[in-house]
Amino acid sequence: MVRSEYLKKKLKKISTVILVLLTVMLTGCKAEEPAGPKETTITILATSDLHGKLFPWDYVSDREDRSGSMFQLANAVKANYAEDSTLLVDAGDTIQDNFAEIFLSDEVHPMMNMLNQIGYDVWTTGNHEYDFGMDVTEHLIREFEGHAIVSNLYGPDGKRVTEPYAVFEKNDVRIVVLCMVTPNIVRWNPTYLADYTVTNPIDETRLLLKELEGKYDILLGVHHMGLNDENEVEGSGMPSYLKYFPEYDAVIAAHEHTLVEKKEINGVLVVEKSPFASSLMKLDFTMKKGEDGWKKKDVTAKTVLVREYEPNEAMMGKYQDCGRRIREYTSKEIGTMYGDDPLVKEGMLNGTEFPSAMFEPSPLITLYNTVYAGCFACQTHQGESSTE
Ligand SMILES: [Zn+2]
Repeated sequence: MVRSEYLKKKLKKISTVILVLLTVMLTGCKAEEPAGPKETTITILATSDLHGKLFPWDYVSDREDRSGSMFQLANAVKANYAEDSTLLVDAGDTIQDNFAEIFLSDEVHPMMNMLNQIGYDVWTTGNHEYDFGMDVTEHLIREFEGHAIVSNLYGPDGKRVTEPYAVFEKNDVRIVVLCMVTPNIVRWNPTYLADYTVTNPIDETRLLLKELEGKYDILLGVHHMGLNDENEVEGSGMPSYLKYFPEYDAVIAAHEHTLVEKKEINGVLVVEKSPFASSLMKLDFTMKKGEDGWKKKDVTAKTVLVREYEPNEAMMGKYQDCGRRIREYTSKEIGTMYGDDPLVKEGMLNGTEFPSAMFEPSPLITLYNTVYAGCFACQTHQGESSTE
């Protein structure tokens, strides 16, 4: 009697356990079922016009300069990057200015090396990547370990020099990146580009979008073009270009060295960062999955200030030799000045990026022209010029 009571109790206990287990299993299964539309965030981190700003150092005044450098940028990216959901892109003008030209014959240019070390996914050429001959341009393209894309550049063999676009999948969202270079490069470097064809971005984009129909959830442009047409070429600035392409979800503009935190052109979000390695643009797309795939719910854009980040010391340690070479180059004696005239008159250095001392007659301009006539840059200069 006692034993059967015990068995009854034991069986009751076991069945309770089974019931609890079944409930857990059932609710567990229920939790795994898709709970309506899903949401995810895709982040685009973008730079452009880095112009050789490798070190946090101003080699002209020989002083520390924390306004932005590749080594600070490395830490800024690190703090804002998530492998599954972030795409890191650059819109060109990378290896010219800030003494970056002295590394052009290196096996891998330190600026390209840094883009690789930081982990850039996409890089496109700026107009200044064409200032030193196409051997240099094509070498830079090969040096980049991510996707180097110039959608509208064709080689002497009539084929595109790079892939036409790049396709990524982040958190199940398909992102297509197109990269156009300003068609004005044929005016600025006509000799180097004589055997190459640079198509108008409007024609090239039309062609590619036909091929890409239904193949992306986010269409991103990373273009080395600014907000204004240049030389009256339609399609060389964003308004005349985007007039035809409301399909874009966002465009990273470049070239004009003007900060554009958020601008809407024909319904397309356009941003451009401030010049050199001073900032990083961060675009967050909130994507919602419905029955017909992912749709953009919202997009926000903000500027990440690189000057707020410390340089990445571990990375910088590996570039000491580059720093030594820049210092050697900048401390070379290039001539002797006689007389008591100041190099520039008072007030000529005021202003922002282009003070009047750069254009108005002064002993400084005379010195510059004399030195320039004998330097390597004059051998590469051809056609009309672009300062951006
Ligand atoms: Zn530039």
